[in-house]
Amino acid sequence: MKSGTVTIVGRPNSGKSTLLNTLVGQKVSIISDKPQTTRHRILGIFNDARGQIVFGDTPGIHKPQYRMNQRMQKTVIGALSEFDLVLHVVDASISFGAGERYVLEMIRQSSPRAVLAINKIDKTAKPKILPIIERYSTACAYLELIPLSAMTGEGIDLLLAKLFDYLPEGEPLYGEDRITDRNERFMAAEFIREKILERARQELPYTTAVLIRKFDESRRETKRLLVVAAEILVEKSSQQGIIVGAGGMQLKDIGSAARADLEELFDCRIYLDLHVRTIARWRDNDAVLDDLEVGT
Ligand code: GDP
Ligand code: MG
Repeated sequence: MKSGTVTIVGRPNSGKSTLLNTLVGQKVSIISDKPQTTRHRILGIFNDARGQIVFGDTPGIHKPQYRMNQRMQKTVIGALSEFDLVLHVVDASISFGAGERYVLEMIRQSSPRAVLAINKIDKTAKPKILPIIERYSTACAYLELIPLSAMTGEGIDLLLAKLFDYLPEGEPLYGEDRITDRNERFMAAEFIREKILERARQELPYTTAVLIRKFDESRRETKRLLVVAAEILVEKSSQQGIIVGAGGMQLKDIGSAARADLEELFDCRIYLDLHVRTIARWRDNDAVLDDLEVGT
């Protein structure tokens, strides 16, 4: 049996979280078209007859501005050396530029064992793919370069087969029924944040966080009911107004969308209580960042 760890890295929006979810066959990491959606290292676990692969999703690699982003980047750098393999995800529809060079430099410095996933081939013209392969194979000594689509699943089986080839023999690290290392509180906060990101514009995605204040499981067995209270953090009262919306309609909409997702995830009814709170400059506040587990 094979057993190993693979960290997924790349620029923001290249499709790392989508790829992780497709690989493990379930949504463990939230997705949006906004950069910096992923703030934590999230593990997703794949099992089959060949063995187990533990994938680590990471925040996108970029130059950090806030303390929050510095902590996010630390988790990426840590992951580069701690995992057996690096899976570098690039967006085939975006041309090679400075952002990609920055990622390549980090990979070259920390780990020679890297596989390149050339993602989003579903929206890339076929003749464009060969030049991308040539470009990247001269830039870095990848073990493999694999065109794929995290969205449609094309190329995923080949990727898994190649990863298993390079991983060592060993016992599984996690029980075979686990699909992520993250607990349910964390998943609840992330699913709520995803609903905000889907509806938010401009600066809101970056200045919003979700803190779970109550996760009451006392009626889960008997009544199949989970009571969750969450606080949505923003940095300014104007942002608070946008999230709440006219007559509270936006917050209601976020709440009902999140509740529907959480009911499916936890397979029980959810009572969800959402509040919005303004904390100036929370992204530079270590106490808040500790509560949010950023950097862990
Ligand atoms: P991350 O920031 O690297 O984690 O990227 P996400 O997984 O959050 O995806 C960023 C955006 O790219 C989202 O809008 C995804 O739906 C989209 N995306 C990801 N993979 C693919 C793909 O294979 N094809 C297409 N067309 N879009 C994709
Ligand atoms: Mg992500």
